[in-house]
Amino acid sequence: MVSAEKLREIFSLIEKLETYSFEIGPIRPPSEGGSYSLLIRVTRNCPWRLCKFCYGTPYNREKFQLRSVEEVKKDIKNVKAMADLLKEISFRLGYGGEVNLKLGEAILSYDVTLRHNQCFINVFNWLYSGGKTVFLQDADSLIIPTKNLAEILGYLKNLFPQIERITSYARAKTLLRKTVEELGELRRLGLLRLHVGLETGDDELLKLVNKGVTASEHVEAGRRVIKAGMELSEYVMPGLGGKTFSRQHALNTARVLNKINPHYIRMRTFVPVLNTPLYEDYVRGRFKLLSPHECLREIRLLIENLDVTSRVCFDHFINPSLKGGIPIFRQSYEGYKLPEEKQLILKTIDEALKIDESKFRWTEELAGTPHL
Ligand code: SF4
Repeated sequence: MVSAEKLREIFSLIEKLETYSFEIGPIRPPSEGGSYSLLIRVTRNCPWRLCKFCYGTPYNREKFQLRSVEEVKKDIKNVKAMADLLKEISFRLGYGGEVNLKLGEAILSYDVTLRHNQCFINVFNWLYSGGKTVFLQDADSLIIPTKNLAEILGYLKNLFPQIERITSYARAKTLLRKTVEELGELRRLGLLRLHVGLETGDDELLKLVNKGVTASEHVEAGRRVIKAGMELSEYVMPGLGGKTFSRQHALNTARVLNKINPHYIRMRTFVPVLNTPLYEDYVRGRFKLLSPHECLREIRLLIENLDVTSRVCFDHFINPSLKGGIPIFRQSYEGYKLPEEKQLILKTIDEALKIDESKFRWTEELAGTPHL
């Protein structure tokens, strides 16, 4: 039985939780949310904002901003203060310092507003799942000078030695400004995985969608990441070339991926997102979306031509689905291992192609979504 005095002390610790906060950006890859990564915002928004299919909409088209090392360190310090408080509350409630569901229930039963406190939720879930992974936000963290990023990583690992994996988004163009040695240093400090938007390996299409990167730059950047010992996820956008570029999109994307051989190839089927130039093109009839079967055939052509040892993942609801959102492919973050499961993917596609197109969810049904 906890005495009234002790309860008062616990309540005051819970109240203290609300006094700490840190900045959280709007997005992170689904594979990072799945592992309840701690989100640390090292920059704000996207420094490019010009890809015609995205246009920086996930960040409301807001201007890119670097954050100072001190500002980011202050955020990390606040995370540490919250983590220490949670541990302390857990001890006092008799849970041995563990962050578990009972602790969460006890805290929320005292202060229900914490249910809507993003910082509390993020730290709680992160610690509850072991506190092992961190995702650095926003769109292009590697733009930070290596020395500064190294300082942030070192500080993070120092305060939380249990962290096993730090990951981030990075633009290929930005990666080319780092040497393999610099990337290797960041790798040693815990930055183990990078998520890069390849979208397509076709130069004509890269130019058309204003990606700001060429296919050969993508290859060089990807190889550098792998050489530095990091894990690499390359994002591919089936359907990005519409009907006109479908074939060359598939073949050249396979060609580029074969040269990089990333650890992960993550599919994100193209959907015209509201307030983007490609959405305008779609609305005005200048961009012809692929039908469900055409999209599957494009993916088939890409997979057929892959000669990699990557894992191919369809870990997002926008990938080919039947009506009602029933996915055609396995939606796991670990996807299908190539080459072992190549035939399985091809067979899955061939089976899906036997289903009448009217049974599929068409991309048109998702068009105009604010962002994905
Ligand atoms: S796709 Fe990435 S690089 Fe391009 S505008 Fe969007 S966030 Fe920026």
